[in-house]
Amino acid sequence: MVRTRFAPSPTGFLHLGNIRSALFPWAFARHHGGTFILRIEDTDQQRSTPEATQAIVDTMHWLGLEYDEGPYHQMQRMDRYREVLDDMLARGLAYRCYTTPAELEQLRTEQMARGEKPRYDGRWRPEKARGKTPPDGVAPVFRFRNPDDGVVAWDDAVKGRIEIANRELDDLVIARADCTPTYNFCVVVDDIDMRITHVIRGDDHVNNTPRQINIMRALGATPPVYAHLPTVLTPDGERLSKRHGARGVLQYRDDGYVPEAIVNYLARLGWAHGDAEVFSVDEFVGWFNLEGLTPSPARFDPEKLRWLDHEHLKRFDDAELGRRLTPFLVAAGLRLEGGPGPDRVAALLRDRAATLVEMADAAGYFYAAPAVDPAMLAEQITDANRAALVALHAEFATIPWERATLGTTIKAEAARHPLKPAQLMMPLRALVAGTLKTPAIDAVLELVGREATRERMARGLQFA
Ligand code: GLU
Repeated sequence: MVRTRFAPSPTGFLHLGNIRSALFPWAFARHHGGTFILRIEDTDQQRSTPEATQAIVDTMHWLGLEYDEGPYHQMQRMDRYREVLDDMLARGLAYRCYTTPAELEQLRTEQMARGEKPRYDGRWRPEKARGKTPPDGVAPVFRFRNPDDGVVAWDDAVKGRIEIANRELDDLVIARADCTPTYNFCVVVDDIDMRITHVIRGDDHVNNTPRQINIMRALGATPPVYAHLPTVLTPDGERLSKRHGARGVLQYRDDGYVPEAIVNYLARLGWAHGDAEVFSVDEFVGWFNLEGLTPSPARFDPEKLRWLDHEHLKRFDDAELGRRLTPFLVAAGLRLEGGPGPDRVAALLRDRAATLVEMADAAGYFYAAPAVDPAMLAEQITDANRAALVALHAEFATIPWERATLGTTIKAEAARHPLKPAQLMMPLRALVAGTLKTPAIDAVLELVGREATRERMARGLQFA
């Protein structure tokens, strides 16, 4: 049974690179009919906030990354870490270390002077401490007794085989003097207790992995499969971060991106399925495998994300797109009562907008008379076409108000003068929509409606 987890630290800001570490374990669990767990790693009490936890939950919900268990909070598991620590002390897997900061500093200076890598020398290991009296007034930290020899190795599902010699690893502090457990220790206890089978996370954790594997083995557990995801870089090649312009994931929701596009985009950041570029969430889950993960860094490309959003908007049917568009129309201050259904507006605008916000911005004239630039009107309404527009205004009072009739009426009126159809369609756009960039004008007029169309024409032609 596959069990995966997303284990964020709620210390602020969740960008696309962070949430990608949720997407892949989620997809892996879904693909295998397994269990996906949310674990909030909130032991850094200084930096953890409830708002950040809420943003994590909201973001996952928005993207559809529903978890089957959790959220577990590490701060609520302190008794359990304490229990495992006591057990490790009793079994000699961990020990109390009374080395003071000053002694550690001295050790470090000496090692550096000898050209060695600074590391704790194991002076309080059980075998060396035998017979030593702990110094007065020093509260000990708790260290893991790392194996001396051999290598710790794993076959990373992304990076391939990784081997670290145990002599490179010193005895990790697993709990501080006040008994609070340290990061790597909590992760190990949790991954064991939660029976995690596959750890899929950012490659900033590769250095922690050999330590975690050693502690796990000492506790008699079989380490999970590890898959370390390549870093996400900005277009300039910096590590994606707030400082380098990364935005919070929910910002994309507010900017009118659809979650399907975000999931699709994130899926392609470090993973591929043949040359598939545009795909649904279900397709992604159906295809997802660890073999498709690529070891090279992924580069965030905002233009590609926009393109993908546009592609996903095009895939929705009218009703669905209208449903997605509605809150953005409302947020744009438009009064929808009495206006055309958002599904019909969406059907006309779907090819012209990359985001729902852009679509809502372009939809204003369907719901209210636009502000029309007099210079544009002056340019569009000429002595050559004014009479034809006035005649159209009259005809519009009685013809059946539907697209095909509107189209033939405009063309017939143009032929009568004679003008090219565009010589009437452009001024009609200016009069009714306040812009020359609209979908087919007959379709626009049909939605704007007879009365509003005639009112706007009369006002612009100045005989109202
Ligand atoms: N809490 C860690 C982080 O936010 C992730 C730990 C893990 O996935 O093992 O980077």
